[in-house]
Amino acid sequence: MDLGLKDKVAVVAAASRGLGRAVAEALADEGARVAICARNPARLEATAAEIRQRTGADVLAQPADVPRPDQVHHFVAQARARWGSIHICVVNAGGPPAKEFSAITLDDWQHAIALNLMSAVYFAREVLPQMRQQKWGRLIFMTSVAVKQPIDGLLLSNAVRSAVIGLAKTLANECARDNVLVNTVCPGYTLTERLEELVAAQAAQKNIPKEEIYNTWKAQIPLGRLAQPHEFGTVVAFLASEKASYITGTSVVIDG
Ligand code: NAD
Repeated sequence: MDLGLKDKVAVVAAASRGLGRAVAEALADEGARVAICARNPARLEATAAEIRQRTGADVLAQPADVPRPDQVHHFVAQARARWGSIHICVVNAGGPPAKEFSAITLDDWQHAIALNLMSAVYFAREVLPQMRQQKWGRLIFMTSVAVKQPIDGLLLSNAVRSAVIGLAKTLANECARDNVLVNTVCPGYTLTERLEELVAAQAAQKNIPKEEIYNTWKAQIPLGRLAQPHEFGTVVAFLASEKASYITGTSVVIDG
C-alpha cells in the first residue's frame, strides 16, 4: 500500500532515540521529509545522519527543548523555511519522574505540565494555522497506555497525559472542517533505551535479575512480549498518511 507520504513534510519532536526516532524513521522510509529535535545536538545530528544514510530521506536536525515555546517556534520555523509548509506534526517528549503523590513537589508538577502538556500546546499553536489554511494536516500526540489504565507510581504521567487527550479530542472537532486530523497514540511497554535503563535501575534497586522485571510485564501482555519501537513507528506513519483520511479524535493504543 502506498501511504501517500512521499515528499510530505513532517516535524517529529524528541526524536534522537526511542519511540520518537522510530516514528521519524517510519516516515522517512515512506519518503517523507523529516525534521527532528531533541536537546543534545551531537546525539541528534548522529541520529539524523543514520536516518539519511539508511533511507535516503531529507532529514533536518534542529536542537530544541520542547517545554520552551521559543525553541519549539524556532524548530518548526526552520522546517518551514527549508520546505515551505508542514503537513505532519508528531509531538513527543521525555517522561516525568515516577513518584508517589507525597513525594511530588510543586516544581515537579510544573515541570511535568510544561514537558508533557504545554509542549503539545506549543506545537499545536505553531502548526495548526497553516495546516488549516492549506486544508491538509495531521497532528499526532504521543501519550501512554497510562491514559487508559493509570499505572501505579506514575502519578504525574497518568494525570498530565490525560489532559493531552482532552486537548486532542477538542482540537479534532475544531479542525475537522479544514481536513486537519488530530489523534493520540498510546504506547505500552516498548523496548527503547529508556525502558532498558529503567529496568536496569529497578533490578539494581531490588537486587533481582532484569529478566524478572521483564517477565512480570510480559505476563500482563496477551501477546506475551514487549513491543519493538518500529511496531509503534509504523502505526504512527499510517495515521499520518493520506490513507488514514477518515480517522480523527481517536486514541490508538499500541500495547500488545
Ligand atoms: P527515550 O528516553 O528512549 O527517548 C526520549 C527522546 O526524547 C530522546 O530522543 C530524548 O532526547 C528526547 N527528549 C527528552 N526530553 C526532551 C525535551 N525536553 N526536549 C526535547 N527532546 C527531549 O524514551 P521513549 O521510551 O522513546 O519514550 C518516549 C515517550 O513515550 C516518553 O514520554 C515516555 O514516557 C513515553 N512512553 C514510553 C513507553 C515505553 O515503553 N518506552 C511507554 C509509554 C510511554
